[in-house]
Amino acid sequence: MTRPRIKVLALGGTIATRPDASGAMQMGLGADDLVAAVPALAALAEVAAETVSKVGSHSLGFDQIHALAARIAALDADGVIVTQGTDTLEETAFLLDLLVDRDIPVIVTAAMRNPALTSPDGPGNLLAAVRVACDPWVRAHAAALGVMAVMLDEVYSAGDVQKTHPTRLDAFASPQTGPLAALVEDRVVPLALPVRDAMTAARARLGAAAGGKAAPVALCWLGLDEPGFMIEALVDHRDRLGYRGVVLGAMGGGHVPERVASLVVRLAALLPTVVSPRASGGPMLRQTYGGPSSEIALRKAGLIWGGRLHPLKARVLLETCLRAGLGRDAIAEVFDAFG
Ligand code: GLU
Repeated sequence: MTRPRIKVLALGGTIATRPDASGAMQMGLGADDLVAAVPALAALAEVAAETVSKVGSHSLGFDQIHALAARIAALDADGVIVTQGTDTLEETAFLLDLLVDRDIPVIVTAAMRNPALTSPDGPGNLLAAVRVACDPWVRAHAAALGVMAVMLDEVYSAGDVQKTHPTRLDAFASPQTGPLAALVEDRVVPLALPVRDAMTAARARLGAAAGGKAAPVALCWLGLDEPGFMIEALVDHRDRLGYRGVVLGAMGGGHVPERVASLVVRLAALLPTVVSPRASGGPMLRQTYGGPSSEIALRKAGLIWGGRLHPLKARVLLETCLRAGLGRDAIAEVFDAFG
């Protein structure tokens, strides 16, 4: 039987670290090293390795992920595995999901425990990712699954996966939906297909994003008694600051502290401003609460409703919309589809 041709593209991250003379972990391993560390891969797939970068994912940029998406578009392969750091995996996987238009499995994986520790998880995660990419159910539903993340024997949708712990081995979850599949023994057990209507609609409108210019988006998390100085700075100095859009990590179903409500409304008149739930994503309210700082007034005043997207993913989507040249109304439609 011919084995699927799987391409491993390595960006960096803990999975690709090695100790320097002081014992500190530094980026150093390339894709060949990662593949060579897992001899069991050869029984599953014809694996080709390519080192794209040796960068911690906390230092990756939108332009690098756009270039990676273009690279994936040009590959002659039956499946693609991206290895990177865990820190921004929930954002890069989502951006790839917005940009990559392939009918083959595209999977992002990483490691929480570095190769110098006892029982590092990188080799097992890479093996699991390749197993998922080779699985007949996954290959048959590749377009419906979209970009996936594989961590600790679970498969997650790029739109829902979150890093939920900074250090634990089980640091990833999809709190809103649960995983798409689980790995058990040598099998992939399907559990669910993601609801992707909003992604499909967004992708259709984002065709031009790849060539567009970077569009920095500010992320303002709203906490108890936030005085709004940062929002005021955005209102007063937006040209000097350079942000082209804003995501507010808002309270509850779409609320802001009353003392910043009028500032937020002024901001929305100047820059596309998305309200997104700081409570880990999840559908927001639209028509329950009255008063100037709640959803009815904020929506009427022109705030864009982020739907169920976590603020980090809303920020990625807004940057991509702006890069594609979409105006405020088109951006609002893209977000609105996310519920
Ligand atoms: N901060 C580094 C990165 O995201 C290491 C963290 C990790 O890979 O888990 O690449």
